[in-house]
Amino acid sequence: MSKLGFIGLGIMGNPMAAHLVKAGHEVFLTTLGLVSKELTDAGGVDCVSSQEVTQRADIIFLMLPDTPDVAKVLFGDNGVASGLSAGKTVVDMSSISPMDTKVFAQRINALGCDYLDAPVSGGEVGAKAASLTIMVGGPQAAFDLVKPLFELMGKNITLVGGNGDGQTCKVANQIIVALNIAAVGEALLFASKAGADPAKVRQALMGGFASSRILEVHGERMIKRTFDPGFRIKLHQKDLGLALQGARELGLALPQTAGAAQLMQVCAANGMADLDHSALVKALELMGNHEVASPK
Ligand code: NAD
Repeated sequence: MSKLGFIGLGIMGNPMAAHLVKAGHEVFLTTLGLVSKELTDAGGVDCVSSQEVTQRADIIFLMLPDTPDVAKVLFGDNGVASGLSAGKTVVDMSSISPMDTKVFAQRINALGCDYLDAPVSGGEVGAKAASLTIMVGGPQAAFDLVKPLFELMGKNITLVGGNGDGQTCKVANQIIVALNIAAVGEALLFASKAGADPAKVRQALMGGFASSRILEVHGERMIKRTFDPGFRIKLHQKDLGLALQGARELGLALPQTAGAAQLMQVCAANGMADLDHSALVKALELMGNHEVASPK
């Protein structure tokens, strides 16, 4: 059994760490706030800092909100770097900047340690069911070492390329998801305003070429008005920001991504930053002065 660390025990990190604990590994844990009783009851070890986690573990997983959080946990006071000794492996599963990831990896490598960026897709449902898609960047040997642990948390696990390429893949994923949510939102709003039952429209479309996981899961949320997260608007705003910043640096235009980012901005400006990203439909509803609803 391995000595593992897990830092960042939120919506995603808590169930992911639980799979590692359940498999019998010794798992050292820290997060802002309290480590859940579920994890400590199952045998996880509550630690006071990222430094302590790193000193006690050989492979350290991070699942944090954004790039500045990862920078702080890696290189801040009592952070991962201060607890590392040569031969350990740092695995960042957060969704953060591909460019900054390359720099983080070099700084960790300079301490004699390997670094993998390994962001995920599949949401809270996938984290709980251990069915996440995991997109990895880094050296083959480190990937081979960590793969059996990834297999405890996910199913579709791909070494995409070198450090940063896992994060680039995740940004691409988030572009597709955002544009799909906007498409499903526009379609259901159109159907509803035209007098059709959006629930029946969704049901009919699920069998055809317009079918998608987004129509299935997020379409249902839009119809049932269940916007508790899930995946928060503000996290998706962060991801689209990474896409648009990257596009600027690469000299690319991503007009549809920019449009979806604007719709999320409308949500955030109206107090919805902590709702699930399916609430993007509410920005469209505001503009159309109509709410997706079944006919009375
Ligand atoms: P979350 O806000 O629920 O959890 C983040 C956790 O990090 C919190 O528990 C917080 O306490 C902890 N944290 C923050 N700063 C810390 C610090 N300095 N030291 C220790 N712990 C710290 O977020 P989440 O939904 O679990 O998402 C985590 C990452 O996974 C994000 O990058 C997100 O984009 C990505 N992601 C989320 C989903 C989803 O559906 N929620 C899906 C795929 C990817």
